[in-house]
Amino acid sequence: MLQAMMMNRPLLVSSIIDYAAEIHPHARIVSATVEGDIHRTTYPEAAKRIAQLAHALRGLGVEPGDRIATMAWNGYRHFELYYAISGIGAVCHTINPRLSAEQMVYITNHADDKFLFFDTTFTPILEGLRTQMPPSLRFVAMTDRQHLPDCEIPDLLCYEELLSDRPETIDWPEFPEDTACSLCYTSGTTGEPKGALFSHRSTILHALFSVLAKHDALRQDRTILPVVPLFHVNAWGLPYSAPMTGTSLIFPGANLDGESLFELLEAERVFSTWGVPTIWLGLLAEMKKRGRAPDGLAEVGVGGSAAPRPMIEAFEKDYAINVVHGWGMTEMSPVGTLGLLSPKMKERPIDEQIELKTKHGRRLFGVEMKIVDDDGEPLPHDGVAAGELFVRGNTVVSGYYNNEKATADAIDDQGWFGTGDVASIRSDGILVITDRAKDLIKSGGEWISSIDLENLAMNHPGVANCAVIAIPHPKWDERPLLVIVKAKGQEPTKREILENMATKLAKWQVPDDVAFVDDLPLTATGKVSKRTLRQKFSDYKLPDAAVG
Ligand code: AMP
Repeated sequence: MLQAMMMNRPLLVSSIIDYAAEIHPHARIVSATVEGDIHRTTYPEAAKRIAQLAHALRGLGVEPGDRIATMAWNGYRHFELYYAISGIGAVCHTINPRLSAEQMVYITNHADDKFLFFDTTFTPILEGLRTQMPPSLRFVAMTDRQHLPDCEIPDLLCYEELLSDRPETIDWPEFPEDTACSLCYTSGTTGEPKGALFSHRSTILHALFSVLAKHDALRQDRTILPVVPLFHVNAWGLPYSAPMTGTSLIFPGANLDGESLFELLEAERVFSTWGVPTIWLGLLAEMKKRGRAPDGLAEVGVGGSAAPRPMIEAFEKDYAINVVHGWGMTEMSPVGTLGLLSPKMKERPIDEQIELKTKHGRRLFGVEMKIVDDDGEPLPHDGVAAGELFVRGNTVVSGYYNNEKATADAIDDQGWFGTGDVASIRSDGILVITDRAKDLIKSGGEWISSIDLENLAMNHPGVANCAVIAIPHPKWDERPLLVIVKAKGQEPTKREILENMATKLAKWQVPDDVAFVDDLPLTATGKVSKRTLRQKFSDYKLPDAAVG
């Protein structure tokens, strides 16, 4: 081997905002705020406030490696936190406010967060949970003095006051590119969320790989609106790839209903917008009501759950909007594949193109994939053989933060990460997800742990055994059904079981229905066979499933 003679500069997140401020001064960042107004700024202006925030964090004693939590909607202050925290070498820990109370308490303690920055919408949640969070955790309300909540959080800090009078420039520190820059917990099957700890290097590479694939939407004359949250899956990396390319970023804040999104998309002439299927049902309903699409909208990116065919059809046929269906995971930074059709595929009749878009797309450059059988042996990419999907690459986690057990379970002996999805891969590279090996339910883009629900249900003396499975739902993609074997001589009612569970769960995590059975199907190893149970209930209609 001959050693090359090239510079080796660390790939750092701070370089993105510096670049955007210098090279793309005209791109816009527009935010629908929690306070109710529309906030407008640019990358150079954002860079100044990011510098101020970085100085403020240092002033508060934040050290490299410290975990700084956020609980916030998509908005300019959350964007500033992404860059300021990572820029000084600390770790931006985004908390998903849709997690259950127990999960939020668990992850703030597991991450040992030092500060928690929050949108005022979340004040009541934090007032309720703060005493169970790390004792030294300090809270910062992401607003100005005028909108500071009147609440019981002691020593509450005010975001705008922290920034005021700080210098508007900063010389970002330099450190190795494999330093952690952000942390996002994802639900585990056992109910304890697991932390994906991203590096500066993985974040920059993910942004570059995404831009390679979506260069038609990520460029300086385009405007993009991520509905996909900054608090989950890094908003699919758009807060990095947009400034890198000079794309204008529109942040929708807390109002994600069809009408609010329609108006924002149209007012800001958004070209491309990204989110989970549930969100797009709301937008489609609004489009149907108005008989048209928002002016300027050319593309809808769908991921996080399978995009249903009727949805793809409605966007493509009724409104001539290009649908890009992607697959990925938090652990993959998150984008793994995108459903971009080749020129040859685009020559096919529209119905065939739509059919192709119901599949899960082709892998991004930098993402390797294999499917394996039950013995871990690789299966052919022939579109027929299906097995667990494993991935590898510089944007995939090498384990979970401070969690050896979960790490050992997730990584195979050749260093591949097991996704828990079951898939086939066609000879043309198209991934087709056929099932889920992991015992989780995905409702409206967010996870519910079946095992958590089962453990809770078993607390009821009338329950001898139970299993929770996902039932397809027209609005939420999937909803939990609790299947129960009654204890001998007991007659528990659906209502008392669900009410009992509701005291320990977020409202949306409570099963939609209970079905009573005489026994549960078992696998050869004596576990409940969820696959058989799902087949048995394949025609099951949940009580409110007609509500679209
Ligand atoms: P998360 O880390 O919350 O983004 O969840 C990742 C998981 O969501 C994947 O492993 C899949 O089970 C599921 N998922 C993501 N995108 C899709 C999709 N397009 N179709 C079906 N399932 C998906």
